Amino acid sequence: MNALATLPLDPQTLRADFPILATTIHDNVPLVYLDNAATTQRPRQVIQTIVDTYERRYANVHRGIHWLSDQSTDLFEEAREGVRAFINAPAREEVIFTHGTTESINLVARSWGDANVRAGDEIVLTVMEHHSNLVPWQQLAARTGCTLRHIPITDDGELILDEFDKLLSPRTRLVALASVSNVLGTINPVEEIVRRAHSAGALVLVDAAQSAAHMPTDVQRWNADFVAFSGHKMLAPSGVGVLWGRRELLDAMPPFLGGGSMIRRVKVDSFEPADLPAKFEAGTPPIVPAIGLGAAIDYINAVGLANIHAYEDVLTRRAHTVLAEVGGVRIVGPALEKKAGIVSFTVEGVHAHDVAQLLDRQGIAVRAGHHCTMPLHKRLGITATARASFYFYNTLDEINLLGRALADAKHVFRRR
Ligand code: PLP
Repeated sequence: MNALATLPLDPQTLRADFPILATTIHDNVPLVYLDNAATTQRPRQVIQTIVDTYERRYANVHRGIHWLSDQSTDLFEEAREGVRAFINAPAREEVIFTHGTTESINLVARSWGDANVRAGDEIVLTVMEHHSNLVPWQQLAARTGCTLRHIPITDDGELILDEFDKLLSPRTRLVALASVSNVLGTINPVEEIVRRAHSAGALVLVDAAQSAAHMPTDVQRWNADFVAFSGHKMLAPSGVGVLWGRRELLDAMPPFLGGGSMIRRVKVDSFEPADLPAKFEAGTPPIVPAIGLGAAIDYINAVGLANIHAYEDVLTRRAHTVLAEVGGVRIVGPALEKKAGIVSFTVEGVHAHDVAQLLDRQGIAVRAGHHCTMPLHKRLGITATARASFYFYNTLDEINLLGRALADAKHVFRRR
């Protein structure tokens, strides 16, 4: 049988939709883009939607009583409906457009946090969180006097659920965790965490930045209270993100930012906030990025999240095999069955930045450093890792090339 026929999707056909993937860099070396956890690339369909909107249907939204504004508003609200369906949210009003995961989490920490968290309360995070899901809570702790607790991980990068149980108490107000770690690739047991948190009376915020484009997000199945993610990690333009929240929570929360659009009425000394979702969308929102996100979701739906997840598993397995063959490579993170398409590693005797630089010379884009997870790296006892992260347009040949390039890089360093 043709090898391709056994794959869950055909990456070559899909690659043709991504102009940037045909780029050659340096001295005519083909680009091998393995930095998808930082940001994905955009297909023509998304780029064309952006161009069409600016060329024919762009005006400010919800403002003008004119044709063009209605057109733009319709596209913007269609995108919101697209997001609602994509995450199986009960209502469109619960989908708030922000500028990214970072802003979505800050919105909850500021708005819900300041109104509900007091000195003596506790927020439970995990050791593997991105700084975006650590710093806003540290700032909340500084404002309110609440205490932060952290679920520890095993040496393989899995959450220790028994320890989580010990952290939960009537003082716990919120548990905030990533659905997928941006370094370890660990797929966390969100539903189980939510079940345990809810039985202790705590809410749960899920940072879905690394899972939204790769596996289904079903806010009702998760039974979470808030879910945050970014457009640019899922084929959409940068500058748009999403916060989904349970309606009763969002209704009770004060606005985050003040300004135009988020009000029903303003007097010189007071204001009345608008209804959802406008209450949390002060000022001109990221109109075209949000419309682009709608197009990106259409594209992802057409490829199919189940196919994407299954194909990334094939790529990740191959990556583990080729990295093991290089020798002296330590992959951080759990067993393959428990991880997404993110492979972070160290190479014996070579700093991660040097690894990334040597790979770059061969056209391979990976990220190196702490990936905004300093506490996780401290826990792992390392200062930096190199990270290869995959999407459906990557190929097995690219992964093989990564292995060969790493073997070359090791060789270069041995000679020095
Ligand atoms: N959370 C996780 C797990 C991430 O990987 C990232 C980005 O890498 C973020 C949050 C922050 O996303 P953004 O920079 O789009 O706000």
